[in-house]
Amino acid sequence: FEGMTIVELAKATGYSISSLQDMLVNIGEKVDSEFDPLSIDIAELLTMELGVNFRRLISDEGAVFQHRPAVVTVMGHVDHGKTSLLDALRQTSIAAKEAGGITQHLGAFVINMPSGASITVLDTPGHAAFSAMRARGAAVTDIVVLVVAADDGVMPQTLEAMSHAREANVPIVVAINKCDVPAADPERVRVQLGAEGLLLEDLGGDVQVVEVSAKTRAGLDKLEEAILLQAEMMDLKARSDGPCQAYVVEARLDRGRGPLVTAIVKSGTLICGQYIVVGSEWGRIRFIRNMLGRATASGRPAMPVEIEGLKGLPMAGDDVIVVDSEERARMLSNGRKKKLEKDRLLKARRRIEIEDTSES
Ligand code: GDP
Ligand code: MG
Repeated sequence: FEGMTIVELAKATGYSISSLQDMLVNIGEKVDSEFDPLSIDIAELLTMELGVNFRRLISDEGAVFQHRPAVVTVMGHVDHGKTSLLDALRQTSIAAKEAGGITQHLGAFVINMPSGASITVLDTPGHAAFSAMRARGAAVTDIVVLVVAADDGVMPQTLEAMSHAREANVPIVVAINKCDVPAADPERVRVQLGAEGLLLEDLGGDVQVVEVSAKTRAGLDKLEEAILLQAEMMDLKARSDGPCQAYVVEARLDRGRGPLVTAIVKSGTLICGQYIVVGSEWGRIRFIRNMLGRATASGRPAMPVEIEGLKGLPMAGDDVIVVDSEERARMLSNGRKKKLEKDRLLKARRRIEIEDTSES
């Protein structure tokens, strides 16, 4: 819809030009000519009124693309060591080192490698988070680290994680964990994974397998290298200039500072002072903090940042978009809230209808 004119929108939606103009007036927007391109925010508002599906597609023409770090999610069966592995990896991250070992859960952390490369790790293990984010259109994860306990082997949630990754078309790096325990049998895990159709590197495939212990920290460096190698093969790039798009990975309310949102920038650069709409909330960015808790002026692709300045609390998976003015931000937030409410009512009504028919 970016840059669409009213004439084009009328053609695309089947509404008359004058009815679209009336809607614009209702929204409080003035457009001089039906041949003027509409801003993307106005287009979204109009489509919400019309009940037409809308997706923000930002043209990448002429944009500058740069390499960006990979965003990684840890998945696996319960008790196989996801949380322990995250803790162990977090300790290698700069946040832990520089803040004297204090580890705060912010939804994401960054591992800085000696080579200068870095890896962004989502700090929420589990499939629910992954699915919820995906369901909301937030394809933030580039790589899944599949944790399998060396003593327990492939279990139901291991398979579930594999199918999640497959559906999302996200490559897997396998971490065979608990290799320190006497009952560890990494070979058996390899055979099991191979039998489930995972094309392991040792068998000529391209899925890397690393033996680790979250407890003794053995193999962590190899795991980080494997993730980096996988990222290199994917040649991950992002538009580094232009309007920012980001996704919420965690949102919490701080007594003094209000709603705080950890977001990962997908493309563009987020800048302090900008007006943003996050899901159906809005605000003006008062502070951007990096994962060390230090204020920074901007956030770049694959960087987790903490944003302060929202009026309300958004949800994980919500998108962060930048708009031109406070008025726009309010308008879009209101429009989205109304649409959410409408969808909620529709769903409730549908449920009642279904219950009705099931009773009769
Ligand atoms: P999660 O459910 O996948 O998050 O698993 P946890 O990280 O909570 O770990 C489950 C249990 O396994 C805990 O008691 C951990 O201390 C233990 N554990 C995790 N990783 C290792 C490991 O590498 N070696 C050993 N020996 N125990 C581990
Ligand atoms: Mg856990």
